[in-house]
This record gives sequence, C-alpha cells and structure tokens, in this order.
Amino acid sequence: MTEIPLKGVSIDVKRLYLPVLLKSNCPDCTEELYYDMSIDNLSYPVMGETEYIHFYCDECGCEYTRDLVLKMTLEYEDEGEIIE
Ligand SMILES: [Zn+2]
Repeated sequence: MTEIPLKGVSIDVKRLYLPVLLKSNCPDCTEELYYDMSIDNLSYPVMGETEYIHFYCDECGCEYTRDLVLKMTLEYEDEGEIIE
C-alpha cells in the first residue's frame, strides 16, 4: 500500500463540518473554551496549509486564534502504483 500526503489541495467546499470538538484554555484567565467543528465550519480549506480558528472567552472577553492543519492521506490498495 502506498500513502501520499496531500498538500496544497483545495477542497471546493464552502462549509466543511467535522465531528471534532477542540478544547483550548484562555490565555488570560485559563477558562476552558471549546470549538465544535460540527457547528463551526472551515471555509474552502486547503490541505496542509494553516487554518485559523477563533476563540472568544465569555469570562474575560479575550479573543484569540489558534492554528490547525487539515491533512488528508490517500491510500491505494492495489498491486499497481500511484503514478502522480
Ligand atoms: Zn478568559
């Protein structure tokens, strides 16, 4: 089996929802904040490139961003090979 990491590939999806819940601690007051990717989407994400998600803390009013990278792997299960 050959695996090819895909980078720089744009997903032509205006709103990409994922069943993922991210946790972050507010840098000012350490309150636990959550980013529910099944509600908040990525817009036209590009594989292997940094996406920015935004957090807002209701406790202290702090706003900040965190980076994430969406990765995709292609698996080709055959005796052949991936040419390109
Ligand atoms: Zn805070």
